[in-house]
Amino acid sequence: MCIFCKIVNGEVPAYKVYEDEKTVAFLDIFPRAYAHTLVVPKKHFETIDEMDEEYLAALIKSVKNVAKLLKEKLNAEGYNIVSNNGRASGQEVMHVHIHILPRFENDNIKFEFPDVIEEYKEKLEEIHRKIVG
Ligand code: 5GP
Ligand code: ZN
Repeated sequence: MCIFCKIVNGEVPAYKVYEDEKTVAFLDIFPRAYAHTLVVPKKHFETIDEMDEEYLAALIKSVKNVAKLLKEKLNAEGYNIVSNNGRASGQEVMHVHIHILPRFENDNIKFEFPDVIEEYKEKLEEIHRKIVG
C-alpha cells in the first residue's frame, strides 16, 4: 500500500487539516511554504487523467475548501496550486495529490514557472495540429 493510502487509513500519522467523504488534506512533511498542504483522494489513483469523475470533482472541491480554510485561519493572501503527474514531471509519491502553497506578500519564496522556450513558441501551429488533428 502506498504512503498516502496509509495516511488516508490512519496507518501512518499526518497532520490532517481537512477531511470529507472522498478526500483528505494534510501538511506536507517537507514544507516548501508556510502550511504547505497536500490534498489527496481517499481512493488510490496514480495520476489525474486516471481518476473517475466523481473523485475528480470531489478533489477539486476539496482543494477549494482547503484554500479557503488556509486563507481564513492563517490569513494567507494567495496560494499556488501544483500537481506533478508522472515521474517525468517530478512526481515522487505515485498517489494523486494537489499541493497548496499558501502565499504571503514578501514571503521570499521562489516559485518560478519555467522560462519561455522560443523553439516551442515557433512550433505552436505544428503542436496544435498534432493535438487536434
Ligand atoms: P511530489 O513530488 O510527488 O509531487 O510530492 C510529494 C510530496 O509528498 C513531497 O512534497 C513530500 O514532502 C511529501 N511527502 C512524502 N512523504 C510524505 C509523508 O509521509 N507524509 C507527508 N505529510 N508528506 C509526505
Ligand atoms: Zn495510494
